[in-house]
Amino acid sequence: MRLLLAEDDVMIGEALVMALRDAAYRVDWVQSGSAALLALELGQHQALLLDLGLPECDGLAVLQQLRNLANAIPVIILTARDDVATRIQGLDLGADDYLVKPFNLPELLARLRAVLRRQGGQVSSVYRVGQLSLDAHTHEATFAENTARLSAKEFALLQVLMLSSGQILSRSVLEERVYGWNEEVESNAIDFLIHGIRKKLGNSAIKNIRGAGWMVSKT
Ligand code: CA
Repeated sequence: MRLLLAEDDVMIGEALVMALRDAAYRVDWVQSGSAALLALELGQHQALLLDLGLPECDGLAVLQQLRNLANAIPVIILTARDDVATRIQGLDLGADDYLVKPFNLPELLARLRAVLRRQGGQVSSVYRVGQLSLDAHTHEATFAENTARLSAKEFALLQVLMLSSGQILSRSVLEERVYGWNEEVESNAIDFLIHGIRKKLGNSAIKNIRGAGWMVSKT
């Protein structure tokens, strides 16, 4: 899952990027409203964590513009403004959730899982596709009789494949969805992750379509 964080406070931004990466999210961080809008035009992110007090274009204006463009990306507002009027305005403009700073990190992660699974039409934090299941909370995966805990990047990759089950995803698409802007991607990184997942879950957990990419089948 790749997130966009729009936060102009450097200390909060750095702490959040680190915490979210530890939780296996790919995170790109921008520090102004206009940069957030520009980044979202690329359509690479699955959720937006949005501070309200941002330079250039404030968070509520970002949200309004996104929804005017019919961009349905899940948005969680993170802000120090705790007055009820601003909260109502944020939710009415199309935010999916609202957390007041200082917030508790495990709560943010739980709310993030909640908005992401609503977006994916999932009813719990366990993704299921065919014989595969993947717990977004514990990063435990099961395929047939095999159960294993995945590393952060293995989790991120399998989640991307499961969310697009039945579709072949190429190496470049997987790299784009699994890694953030500032991360170095080794040329064989995806193969390495696929190898690791297959070793834990069995070869047929992920299908290789020669020359095209990889997929998780729906059945
Ligand atoms: Ca701010």
